[in-house]
Amino acid sequence: MRAESNQNGSEKTIIAPCVADPQDVSSECALVRPDDPCSIVILGATGDLTARKLMPSLFNLYRNQGLPEPFTIVGCGRTPLDHQGFRKKMENAVMSALDADHKTWQAFAKLLYYQTITYDDVSSFDHLKNFVKDLDKKNGTGGNRMFYLALPPSLYQPVTQMLGQAGLSVEGQEDNGWARLVVEKPFGRDLSTAIDLDQCIHAYFQERQVFRIDHYLAKETVQNILMFRFANAIFEPIWNRRYIDHISITAIEALGVEHRAGYYEQTGVIRDMFQNHMMQLFALTAMEPPSAFEANHVRDEKTKTYRCLRPFPVENLRDHLVLGQYRDGTIAGKKVPAYREEPGVNPHSLVPTFAMMKIMVDNWRWQGVPFYLTSGKRLARKLTEIAIQFKEVPHSMFRQTLGEHIIANRLTLGIYPEEKITLTFQTKTPGTRVRLRPVTMDFNYYKEQKGPVLDAYEKVLVDCMLGDQMLFWRQDGVELCWSFLTPILESCEECGDPGARLYPYEPGSWGPLEVQRLLKNASVVRSIERVPE
Ligand code: NDP
Repeated sequence: MRAESNQNGSEKTIIAPCVADPQDVSSECALVRPDDPCSIVILGATGDLTARKLMPSLFNLYRNQGLPEPFTIVGCGRTPLDHQGFRKKMENAVMSALDADHKTWQAFAKLLYYQTITYDDVSSFDHLKNFVKDLDKKNGTGGNRMFYLALPPSLYQPVTQMLGQAGLSVEGQEDNGWARLVVEKPFGRDLSTAIDLDQCIHAYFQERQVFRIDHYLAKETVQNILMFRFANAIFEPIWNRRYIDHISITAIEALGVEHRAGYYEQTGVIRDMFQNHMMQLFALTAMEPPSAFEANHVRDEKTKTYRCLRPFPVENLRDHLVLGQYRDGTIAGKKVPAYREEPGVNPHSLVPTFAMMKIMVDNWRWQGVPFYLTSGKRLARKLTEIAIQFKEVPHSMFRQTLGEHIIANRLTLGIYPEEKITLTFQTKTPGTRVRLRPVTMDFNYYKEQKGPVLDAYEKVLVDCMLGDQMLFWRQDGVELCWSFLTPILESCEECGDPGARLYPYEPGSWGPLEVQRLLKNASVVRSIERVPE
């Protein structure tokens, strides 16, 4: 094992290679174990996020020796439960999410406690404070605490206030160690609500204590975008307007709204996907190289990129935005309902389930290069990828010989389902006749990997414990993205006839036909649709 210091000064331990061959980096245990003992206090611990993501991730970290020691988990909620009842509930959740052995579970369950809480009563939070203090003394967790808001967004502000008023945000006093606040997306509904939320948070917590989660950023292939761009000398010189025709960033899924209609009716695709995941993928693709691989250097460069976004011309949105909503239809021989027929959805809903945006970046590198961002539900397949479409050759000496169009090079960074990097280029078809054929060169991300791979939630939990904010949103980025998107939300939701701008699309398709008009450029359609099955 070796120890390293991170930017906040807290120590982390790199777990030593778990195989015999230290030369073989692919087989190293890529798990960094935080050294600071701590407690995680989950507010909203009876909910879906805790059951499906947080608890399975914490359990997985525990069994891979990725949690600090000592460590405790305090679940909080209105639901009256005792410690045993909470452990049983979490056992059911973990067992249905993972293949877990009972003995390991029983050892892990000893870390779990539960406190019934009333979210708008400060005495309830005083009680919580005394409870965690006692646990700190009993277990030796040093007063270091992460407060995880796994709650409906409407409770973020009142609960943050209660934590602050109970003195739980203060660091280094009254037996407190460090205190960190973990906030789940969405960070507000628009610019003004995002600012309100931030003011409330900053009344009690400093920015370095705040971890705004976007778990997309913790996916290995998303993190790899920076390594790919900035640890290789050959890509950066061509990563600009001279060589790139356009970039398409796609995150689509085949599923409909499922059981989340209540949430989705309040958000729609722009708030659900664009304000967070899509803007992060965009920033990683478009940003300038940071001077150091450190949280604030990386986040500074992302922020600069958001500042270069050309505002949408709201008077002419048609040429920059297509919104859609899925209608009823058939997928693989099975009838599926329209969005408006889904349980819990208003039958006259105007909430978009699809959006494609053409965005432009006003800086030296990207002037004139469109970025097409596409996301939606009930589409042809689940797919997340970034496609860099290079320009065609400036002059084709083969055109007269072949009389055929030469397909330009394309680099695809696959995030789901195939976590791979693919480069297409032209070669000669073997034989006496001169013909070209496009071929692809593939790199499969996990091909040589033997050690454990952290799930996105495992990674963000470990980073919170380490105090490393690299993979978390900073407030200036949140506000710049809302400034960019709020005018189109207002225009689509409040002005004129929003229904006229919402195009229906077939389930299982690639979106509304209107998309073709926006693209105008057939090669863009190909870069989205021509994905190997
Ligand atoms: P839930 O709707 O499951 O709510 C979590 C808990 O909050 C509930 O168990 C309940 O606990 C309490 N609660 C719910 N509604 C109310 C209410 N009206 N008033 C007071 N308390 C209430 O949320 P999730 O777990 O799904 O999500 C938590 C947060 O994480 C949300 O902000 C969501 O946007 C975000 N998120 C969720 C994801 C997921 O996969 N679920 C993915 C990404 C982000 P009790 O009654 O015991 O107090």
